[in-house]
Amino acid sequence: MTLFDSPAFEGHEGVHTFFDEKTGLKTIISVHSTALGPAAGGCRMWAYPDAEAALTDALKLSRAMSYKNAMADIGLGGGKAVIIGDSRTQKTPELFEAFGRAVDAVGGRYWTAEDVGVSPEDLQNARKQTRYVAGLEGHAAASGDPSPVTAEGVFRGVKLCVERAYNRDLNGVTVAIQGVGHVGAYLAEKLHAAGAKLVIADVNQTALDEIAAKTGAKIVSTDAIFDVDAEVFAPCALGGAVNADTLPRLKGKVVAGGANNQLATPEIGRILFDKGMLYAPDYVINGGGIINVAGEIRALEAGGAFDPAWVEGKLSTLMLTLGEVLDRSVAEKRPTHEVANEMAKARIAAGRS
Ligand code: NAD
Repeated sequence: MTLFDSPAFEGHEGVHTFFDEKTGLKTIISVHSTALGPAAGGCRMWAYPDAEAALTDALKLSRAMSYKNAMADIGLGGGKAVIIGDSRTQKTPELFEAFGRAVDAVGGRYWTAEDVGVSPEDLQNARKQTRYVAGLEGHAAASGDPSPVTAEGVFRGVKLCVERAYNRDLNGVTVAIQGVGHVGAYLAEKLHAAGAKLVIADVNQTALDEIAAKTGAKIVSTDAIFDVDAEVFAPCALGGAVNADTLPRLKGKVVAGGANNQLATPEIGRILFDKGMLYAPDYVINGGGIINVAGEIRALEAGGAFDPAWVEGKLSTLMLTLGEVLDRSVAEKRPTHEVANEMAKARIAAGRS
């Protein structure tokens, strides 16, 4: 299959590959769209089996960033970088400096940040060679850990979905949280403060014990989390949590959480909708993190300081957008993820024209 025929290609503006002989850097910087502003999305370092797998991942991730950034209304397009390599054994400062040169060569059409396998320290090395880096620490524009903002957006989104599906507030509602890492842990605390009852699962016992002590959450196994008698299932771990095996086991009407790629396939979203359940599209409800990063890019561009009030304004708007997705889904009798995709594409097309 050639690049332009790949189903993941879908109108990418640019796909840039770079090789650095000295450090062995192999990176693909994929720019899906700059219609709404420079493309922004993290850099992932992963031991892909081959370049084709890396390319497919880069294309899918950058398109997803276009949609996420369009829905978050942050004046940014969508892009992503992947570095082919094992982040545990193949990282060097020089490799990330070479990556910085690659980002710089894209000429400001792509801003990079953290993703799986890439740390703030790595980005610091990239920053020596380019200014198009967000997610650094220790300067006035720095946005810090995006997880609390992501969790705040997810919390408000869960609240909205419970209002829509059950016509009640969160007090006394049971929420099953899959994964209490960065986002899941903050979410658990917010839900607890709002009076929700929590059931949690994770592979990390220490994280579970900590959250259970703080919130009184009940701990269940990673498999049993799908069978919990809960109004809300909140995926906050890996992708694909809602699939042909797990969907029939969910007892509640709401699926709303922080994880990316919650639906194993688009068809699962259709089945969920036909069952009368409500799914908060993942890239809309979890957009708080990229809003936080956008706050940093904005401050860097202006040479000013990070402005939390701007972030809060965008987060509030994002929740109105989520409400619009839910409204249109009801009015048009269509699954929420289809409505969200259509809205994102329309926003990008409007930016282009
Ligand atoms: P994290 O790695 O801190 O947390 C993930 C947690 O899931 C970990 O505690 C891990 O042990 C747990 N986990 C792994 N496998 C599991 C399983 N089978 N069952 C239950 N738990 C399991 O990551 P995070 O930053 O909290 O991100 C969580 C999800 O949210 C990811 O999908 C991420 O892409 C997405 N996301 C995060 C942010 C952010 O700001 N951090 C923003 C947008 C989206």
